[in-house]
Amino acid sequence: MENIYIKREALSYPKMQFILNRINSHGCTNYKIVENEEEYRDIICSKKIGYKEQKRNLFFGLKKGNFLKKYYLDKNFLGIKEEYYLSYEKNCPYNCTYCYLRDYYDNGAYHYYVNTEDMYRELDAFKKSGTMISAGIVNDTLAYDYITYTTKDLIHYFKNREDLILEIRTKSTNINNLLREEPSKNVVIAFSFNPESIINKYENNTAIFKKRVEAVKELQEKGYYIGLRFDPMIYDPNDVEHNNYKEMINYIFKNINLNKIKDIGIGSLRYKKSLKEKVLNDIKTDLFYSEMVIGIDGKERYFKPIRISLYKSIVNEIKKYGDFNIYLGMEPEYVWKEVLG
Ligand code: SF4
Repeated sequence: MENIYIKREALSYPKMQFILNRINSHGCTNYKIVENEEEYRDIICSKKIGYKEQKRNLFFGLKKGNFLKKYYLDKNFLGIKEEYYLSYEKNCPYNCTYCYLRDYYDNGAYHYYVNTEDMYRELDAFKKSGTMISAGIVNDTLAYDYITYTTKDLIHYFKNREDLILEIRTKSTNINNLLREEPSKNVVIAFSFNPESIINKYENNTAIFKKRVEAVKELQEKGYYIGLRFDPMIYDPNDVEHNNYKEMINYIFKNINLNKIKDIGIGSLRYKKSLKEKVLNDIKTDLFYSEMVIGIDGKERYFKPIRISLYKSIVNEIKKYGDFNIYLGMEPEYVWKEVLG
């Protein structure tokens, strides 16, 4: 937390007062009150700072539009077509090279919207039974949870909404608030994994691999159901057998409770050309060196044989430990068939 901006109107909200207390308790008393989001954005832009520096800025304001967002996956892909997520925050302090948010928002600063009462009112009116609502699509749910305590509020809310499923998604190990709560069956904590070598190269500032596994173990012992996300898998041309991923699977599955895995999501690197351009304008990386093809959604991705070989390498390892609910992210039916049968 370096530069904190608070919209004046937000100050009267209970969540803002709570967060201010938390910020103060972390020894950070230096924040600036701004009249509106544009004023703060002007400050960030006028500094002409890079994306990494932008991420050191936090903005607390009020959300005018809907908190609950619906989006559609391309109809050519198998899996859930209609998805929902919560947008009470956007961006995160980590800096994954492949993060699509760099291309999605006009700056990398962290935003939190404190009028969360409105979010719960929207959820009250939402009646599509069986829907999974993710709290980690445009953010990392746990990254700043030690300040906002949003997971506590969400878990209390979803405890009384057994008709819905809440997904908390993270690459962090900030699980203290979760450990203080009683788990409900309809709350899934989804951890994203990549081999340590990939984390070191492309998932800057996130928790190291073994700490993530430790966090999964602790949460399972507490009673939580866990989702495992291996997405995006990244191809290493020096490891065509994908031994890094096989070792990763074996380490995870030998160390966690196999009976408390809710589902497993697998996908591989994909991105819009505009994201690649923005990243390469900013940093040096070999992330985009592999030969890619343009998919039906206009995104660049690995050639089909590479994707299938990546997926099979971990699916075959996973199957040694039992039958699990596995799905592929943003892949057409013929890829599902070839990988999962
Ligand atoms: S943790 Fe998620 S939201 Fe944060 S930078 Fe990485 S991919 Fe983006």
